[in-house]
Amino acid sequence: MTIPLTCQNYIAGEWLSAVSAETLPSSNPANSREIVATFPRSATADVDAAIAAARQAYRTWRLVPAPARAEYIFRVGELLLQHKEELAQLMSREMGKPLAEARGDVQEGIDCAYYSAGEGRRLFGQTTPSEMPNKFAMTMRMPIGVCALITPWNFPVAIPCWKAMPALVCGNTVILKPSEDTPACATKLIEIFHAAGLPKGVVNLVHGLGEEAGKALVEHSNVDLVSFTGSSETGAFVGATCGRTHKRVCLEMGGKNAQIVMEDADLELALEGAVWGAFGTSGQRCTATSRLILHRDIKEKFTHMLKERTGKLRLGAGTDPNTDVGPLVNASQLERVSRYVEIGREEGAKVLLGGAVASEGDLQHGFFFHPTILDDVTPQMRVAREEIFGPVVVLIEVGSFEEAIAILNDTPFGLSSSIYTRDVSRAFAAMRDIEAGITYINGPTIGAEVHLPFGGVKQTGNGHREAGGAIDVFTEWKAVYVDFSGSLQRAQIDNRE
Ligand code: NAD
Repeated sequence: MTIPLTCQNYIAGEWLSAVSAETLPSSNPANSREIVATFPRSATADVDAAIAAARQAYRTWRLVPAPARAEYIFRVGELLLQHKEELAQLMSREMGKPLAEARGDVQEGIDCAYYSAGEGRRLFGQTTPSEMPNKFAMTMRMPIGVCALITPWNFPVAIPCWKAMPALVCGNTVILKPSEDTPACATKLIEIFHAAGLPKGVVNLVHGLGEEAGKALVEHSNVDLVSFTGSSETGAFVGATCGRTHKRVCLEMGGKNAQIVMEDADLELALEGAVWGAFGTSGQRCTATSRLILHRDIKEKFTHMLKERTGKLRLGAGTDPNTDVGPLVNASQLERVSRYVEIGREEGAKVLLGGAVASEGDLQHGFFFHPTILDDVTPQMRVAREEIFGPVVVLIEVGSFEEAIAILNDTPFGLSSSIYTRDVSRAFAAMRDIEAGITYINGPTIGAEVHLPFGGVKQTGNGHREAGGAIDVFTEWKAVYVDFSGSLQRAQIDNRE
């Protein structure tokens, strides 16, 4: 076992313990006896210091030209590339993701760095004709100010990058409050921002518990915007608090994503999509496929294929190159998934595969759950409606395309979605009628590429988009009028507003 890393807060360019000096541990989910890191249990005093540093730095950072701000982020991208393997190994150890997926997570951060850096040269406004002669009307993008970035554990590098990189290029300063399950990944990431030479206070890191450090950030009167990704329960609190304290807020929350397989689909292709969509990252992705909506003509055959393929998935530590499915992130996730499978059983679902905690051999030391398929599920059951966030997929049978779309849409969430069909008319109708932020035709319910907008409709989000949509989150429009007529004009005479 390796010696635990000592993580610290990063405030005004300094690495600091919490004012209270209290620390908390994070452990390896594949072997909970191994402590990966200790991190500061921050409270209001630490949050106050980070916000003061970010506010101070904002005064000058917003005046740095956007292309120059972008240069720093480009450098972060280059450093991330250099440290990609180290970060991926750490991520596998800290949150259990198989190595190949962990490398993909870091790569999303790298892609985001280069894309955001390019945005520094594209922060255009527009000019538009004014009603009046000798007058220009223009728009320009303004930074928002001090931004609190609150992130989950499932994409511990990609999600902080998706938030911090565009925020900084747009001229904001940031305070990252990462998940208490992945403090080491966040610390390594911020070390890279530090190494890229960003001015003091532009980027700050405050570790700690959600109900303590997170809550203090959200409630603070000197924060201008909160960008939050996490559960719907926490998101509801963050949204309500930001409303009460008049802050901008961007919320990315839960999902209950579905993949439809029609009777005319390429079943091998649909199978690959379903297995990756349902069991990648042990189903702990906001875009995970948790419902498979199967046309009755192919249901039996597809279910058989799915069971066989899923049965071959190898459970193990993310750091083992032979692992297909890693552990769940912590004990409460394991408990949550077990509980939902029990609820499914009580509701009348049939456990076709898995359905139990995995405790064979070394697996007993971690938070492993067997990949699980629940059959005979109806759209009304809780397992078909609520986010499970684990390696569990439910099968729902339908008789028509219209029924499939209606069931897919019958959820309070709307993040990712997918349909496998060879019928171009159905494909286009699905694009139009599916209520989700992302729709794949003949692809799994995975996330988006960095230059496309990422986010969900209905209760998954609050109308904002990250990645390709992030510039709209982290800037505000200003309308500017330039009157060069030198005379009293009609608009003023009319006393218009
Ligand atoms: P979570 O809500 O428990 O925690 C997310 C973050 O919020 C953590 O940093 C946590 O410390 C903080 N937090 C908790 N309570 C808080 C409070 N009272 N005030 C302020 N901050 C608080 O979520 P999680 O378990 O880390 O992540 C899993 C959830 O995230 C799932 O529901 C998943 O769907 C969602 N998610 C959504 C997206 C998306 O883009 N829509 C992406 C990834 C994950």
